Amino acid sequence: MKITFCCTDTKAEPWLQGLAAALPGAEVSVWQPGAPVADYAVVWAPPQQFMDEQQGIKALFNIGAGVDALLQRRLPPGARVVRLDDAGMAVQMAEYVCHAVIRHFREFDQYEAGMRAGQWAYRKPRLRQDFPVGVMGLGVLGERVARALAQFEFPVNGWSRSPKAIAGVRAFNGAEKFNEFLAASRVLVNLLPLTPDTQDILNRDKLARLQPGGYVINVARGAHLVDADLLALLDSGHLAGATLDVFRTEPLPAGHPFWNHPKITATPHTSARTLREESIAQIAGKIGALARDEPIAGIVDPGRGY
Ligand code: NDP
Repeated sequence: MKITFCCTDTKAEPWLQGLAAALPGAEVSVWQPGAPVADYAVVWAPPQQFMDEQQGIKALFNIGAGVDALLQRRLPPGARVVRLDDAGMAVQMAEYVCHAVIRHFREFDQYEAGMRAGQWAYRKPRLRQDFPVGVMGLGVLGERVARALAQFEFPVNGWSRSPKAIAGVRAFNGAEKFNEFLAASRVLVNLLPLTPDTQDILNRDKLARLQPGGYVINVARGAHLVDADLLALLDSGHLAGATLDVFRTEPLPAGHPFWNHPKITATPHTSARTLREESIAQIAGKIGALARDEPIAGIVDPGRGY
């Protein structure tokens, strides 16, 4: 069995060694232009030339949960696209989002600034019921995040395409329920995939529907958010702040207003990292299952975009 590795911005050697160890007998190599067609590929944002040359490949294993960069390319006909399912990302995402929500809710930034200024000062406790959190996207990551927030006893709303029943979560579904979901939420967490339906979804009209003092946490993709609309609503005071992990252009360009905005906390696309060992074990398990003609989880529907 031939496995080719084509991941931009990723050191290949440890992946090759890990895949070879997990799949004894497989021939694992880094893709080079003109290389023969492999049985399976492990990819991240491969060039179009890779897709054009690998005609007949059986499956492309994306080393992330989001497949938007992959689906921008013309796929080899018949190739299945397989995403990472969790593989250690869901707990990281739950940590990141709960940290951002709690930091805002408990006003830790203000307490830290006060202590640095030599002030031992109490702030009036805020009430959880005044901070309903809305989670957009209730998939592998969104559901885990919604459940974690519910454990902290925040009122939690969730929005997805299909109906869901998740303990502790008030579930909304479909485009027709989106405005109702936003109006019921003060803190908004975005965990949608980037698709034609969801691009620019965090825009002025939609963000203005959040409850006053709204707070935005974008951990999905930068192109979900209209940057200027967020800035306008922060300036108007309708939104109290934002935590952003993803940006339209990454790295965030020098001079972008998000770098130094007093109401924005930014991190460099690090909320849920791909963990190599877990990912290799998952991919190897799925390759084994496909080779035995068994069903696997995480097959992407390119028509749907996730
Ligand atoms: P899933 O594919 O498992 O879940 C997607 C969810 O979004 C589903 O609940 C789906 O609804 C819902 N959804 C999709 N389209 C719409 C729509 N038009 N309207 C309403 N709901 C919609 O994705 P994951 O949870 O695994 O990941 C989510 C995203 O997180 C990824 O696509 C990626 O962009 C981002 N990500 C970011 C990382 C980071 O480090 N910042 C790391 C990993 C992922 P339904 O259930 O009904 O199908």
